[in-house]
Amino acid sequence: MAAAALAMEIVAVGRKMAAAGLTTGSGGNISALDDGGRVTITPSGIAYADLTPEQLVVTDRRGERLADGLTPSSELGFHLALYDHRPDIRAVVHTHSVYATTFACLREEIPAVHYLVGYCGHKVRVAPYATFGTPALAAGIIATIGEDQAVLLANHGLVAVGPSLTRAFAVAEEIELVARLYYQTRAIGRPHILSEAEMNAVLEKFKGYGQRPPAAPP
Ligand code: 13P
Ligand code: ZN
Repeated sequence: MAAAALAMEIVAVGRKMAAAGLTTGSGGNISALDDGGRVTITPSGIAYADLTPEQLVVTDRRGERLADGLTPSSELGFHLALYDHRPDIRAVVHTHSVYATTFACLREEIPAVHYLVGYCGHKVRVAPYATFGTPALAAGIIATIGEDQAVLLANHGLVAVGPSLTRAFAVAEEIELVARLYYQTRAIGRPHILSEAEMNAVLEKFKGYGQRPPAAPP
């Protein structure tokens, strides 16, 4: 996607993130790669309600700003590290959503209590604690994420990734639902956790889920 369209989409995702209760104030951050491989990221400390496309920050893959403007998110480092680590990642959504962050504060993985954990993988792992905005936090995320689409940040929040902003946002939203279900089931009983084979079947089925692109004309 071209940089200007991407900026508008990031602002829209920021509004959706706030409206869905996945973060508060200026917490969390969002970035995506444009067609030229540059990074567009939310500025630091600006509430999503006030964010405009012009305020987004465009950097190269080393984090050098390509124009004057606002200071980029303090988490630019882990966004860049994720793009370097996995070529399939083209968008990153970081939230402080309450139920996912509850397990992050317990430093407990979220297991396959519901098949929608498949939006991440077999479960959601926890990256070790490090101060926000540090290379140590980025290193912990990279060491933990493997081939998954999300990771909890100990005592901090959730990072969701995807091939598009739409997908990375959906991962953040669905993992928050699964975290809530895990919290609730543990509060009133003992949740049944899906087996590895059951989750393999889900992940296989996800590959064909949704609308097929129309068949090519003969
Ligand atoms: P920024 O406002 O700098 O993006 O920081 C918010 C945050 O969530 C830090 O982890
Ligand atoms: Zn954060």
